[in-house]
Amino acid sequence: MLEGINIHKKYGNLEVLKGISLQVQEGEIVSIVGSSGAGKSTLLHILGTLDQADSGQVILDKTELTELPSAELSKVRNEKIGFVFQFHNLMAELTAEENICLPAWIGNKPEREIKNRARELMQLLNIEGRADHLPSEMSGGEQQRVAVARALINHPKYVFADEPSGNLDTKNAAELHELFFKLRDSLGCSFIIVTHNLALAERSDRIIELKDGAIVA
Ligand code: ADP
Ligand code: ADP
Repeated sequence: MLEGINIHKKYGNLEVLKGISLQVQEGEIVSIVGSSGAGKSTLLHILGTLDQADSGQVILDKTELTELPSAELSKVRNEKIGFVFQFHNLMAELTAEENICLPAWIGNKPEREIKNRARELMQLLNIEGRADHLPSEMSGGEQQRVAVARALINHPKYVFADEPSGNLDTKNAAELHELFFKLRDSLGCSFIIVTHNLALAERSDRIIELKDGAIVA
């Protein structure tokens, strides 16, 4: 379980998060919604260890992350957390498969194991035919699915996505959302998704609505 307890965050005098508490169960798909500037990205970054709260706690599978030294925090991040952004940020000179494998090459897993995982993910995401393509040779929807596979390569239990379909047309967005549910069902990971897409929010297990740095629904 992922738990945030009374998370506060300020930028200068601006109180961006005003005491947020929430829990996400393993395998749950949670949508975070709210207008621009509500604090959604900031909350996602803090829960996903990319940013630090001023006060409050983030507890991931019974480990209190706010107290961990940075080397141990990196380890937790590499082993348990995946991130998908609005813009895929793929390396232009690497193939789809190389982009997907990149986060695993940082560890010392056997190459065969990494390749097998990459193939499994490419199959689940319907991009197995794109393994040797460069990002420039793929559609926007395919590029984003490569980014999702990259986020999953190290078997994370919690996947954070910040407007993952924000740059996709309606059809590609719907396909991507469909895949989140399929991935959850076959891999068992949780998805915590910041989205403006109402169809996705309504289908998710739970919707958390932020307004001015507080949970209002
Ligand atoms: P949302 O994702 O809901 O649009 P954000 O979490 O991105 O909201 O931002 C919440 C507020 O915090 C906004 O007013 C934004 O301008 C501000 N903010 C976000 N990041 C920073 C930062 N690094 N420095 C200063 N202000 C920031
Ligand atoms: P979103 O599309 O999620 O609302 P933003 O455009 O608010 O994203 O923020 C994009 C990036 O810029 C984030 O890393 C955020 O922390 C940073 N940022 C947002 N607002 C500010 C700000 N007022 N000052 C400095 N950095 C900011």
